[in-house]
Amino acid sequence: MKQFHNFIGGEFVATARTFEKRAPVDDRVIGLVHEAGRAEVDAAVHAARRALKGDWGRMSVVRRVELLYAVADEINRRFDDFLAAEIADTGKPKSLAAHVDIPRGAANFKVFADIVKNVPTESFEMATPDGGTALSYALRSPLGVVAVVCPWNLPLLLMTWKVGPALACGNTVVVKPSEETPATATLLGEVMNKVGVPPGVYNVVHGFGPDSAGEFLTRHPGVNGITFTGETRTGEAIMAAAAKGVRPVSFELGGKNAAVVFAGADFDKAVAGITRSAFENCGQVCLGTERVYVQRPIFDRFVAALKASAEALKVGPSDEPGVTLGPLISAEHKRKVLSYYERARAEGATVITGGGVPAMGGAFAAGHWVEPTIWTGLPQTATIVREEIFGPCCHIAPFDTVDEAIALANDTDYGLATTVWTSDLGTAHRAAREIDVGLCWINSWFLRDLRTAFGGAKASGIGREGGVHSLEFYTELRNVMVKL
Ligand code: NAD
Repeated sequence: MKQFHNFIGGEFVATARTFEKRAPVDDRVIGLVHEAGRAEVDAAVHAARRALKGDWGRMSVVRRVELLYAVADEINRRFDDFLAAEIADTGKPKSLAAHVDIPRGAANFKVFADIVKNVPTESFEMATPDGGTALSYALRSPLGVVAVVCPWNLPLLLMTWKVGPALACGNTVVVKPSEETPATATLLGEVMNKVGVPPGVYNVVHGFGPDSAGEFLTRHPGVNGITFTGETRTGEAIMAAAAKGVRPVSFELGGKNAAVVFAGADFDKAVAGITRSAFENCGQVCLGTERVYVQRPIFDRFVAALKASAEALKVGPSDEPGVTLGPLISAEHKRKVLSYYERARAEGATVITGGGVPAMGGAFAAGHWVEPTIWTGLPQTATIVREEIFGPCCHIAPFDTVDEAIALANDTDYGLATTVWTSDLGTAHRAAREIDVGLCWINSWFLRDLRTAFGGAKASGIGREGGVHSLEFYTELRNVMVKL
């Protein structure tokens, strides 16, 4: 049986307490995860502190950047190992993991290495009251030991999105991967050792949230800052933990994202784009669309086209040719998603397609599959129009005017992302300005340039990461004033 150990100070560390990791495709136990207790979390934070004060802290930026490039190259060299690990943990289609998760996992190290190599700091010359001169300049220091708490939907990609910039800026990290996806974070420990990243720079502690590694880590006084991706409710708990010692947080949280389709949009592109944004990764993407608003003249045609498109998706195991939808991550998440499917019916939704569980044969019958699902007919107050489901589903409602579309898109506690489908530039820009989100895609979805700001408004997050914006969280600027 595969064992997932903690990675502390460059060593793989077993613990007496383990829990089972089950495969989403067939619910088979595929590994035992060694749960970190308070002692292991403490050891990891201390190892990170030692590295910060030692080799890593003293290393030149040039050498640090070389090492981060080496990390990316080694991930690419072991591409198949990372791919297999991610697929085993998540059950996602091989085509998706091979084109998104693993390449982005490697790229996250290079992008931020390039940024820190080239980042300037400010300096000013100033006249002083005594007729002299002073020179002020800024020093950029790492934040310190950073706790990185991750979700399970894009495990390597989202973890390295934080670890890449944190290390590039000279911090050391203790990562708490999701209990559902221990594999790639553990594998990255091997990569760190192989390329010569000093022990303690990258640490991994496995476990759950409350009363387990997640809580022990975020409450640890030796942690200088917390970067977290996950549910908004978890963010609230972590923020409370961070209040002790007023430690900074960077949060990428939940969403209930709207797509707005105007009558003049390229119809086929809008249907294809929303098929991706609603169903990719089995709907387990924070940026995914769960609310679709369509201008009334094309509403019926759009509903019919999205139904046909959803029904053409192939649900199945990762490497079966043509599969576009894998299972949900766990039995618990399947129960949650199906409870929303039930709730939609109870609240009077018209089920356009799906709403249940697909028939899967053989061993796969025990997997966590659900059907891609589309509803219409519910008011804005309905539960499935308000709460994040994180499954392959969306509700479609009509609108008449631009004002109404913007008001509907904004009628949510969340503010992560939106997609706007239109051929009118003025409408596109107005929607981008007035829909209160961190990310707005026009005639596209999940098109990313890693140099740009990423994050959510309202209950979808705190702060922005990406490009130079990551430096604002992972470094502290110190002003030095020199009287000449
Ligand atoms: P989650 O909040 O349940 O768990 C995320 C991580 O937090 C896990 O590692 C978990 O063990 C840990 N955790 C849970 N409770 C904790 C606590 N009290 N203290 C410390 N750690 C704790 O989220 P999830 O179910 O893994 O992921 C899905 C959620 O993540 C969705 O809401 C989704 O929208 C969100 N998400 C957001 C983004 C984004 O960029 N905004 C990206 C991906 C996922």
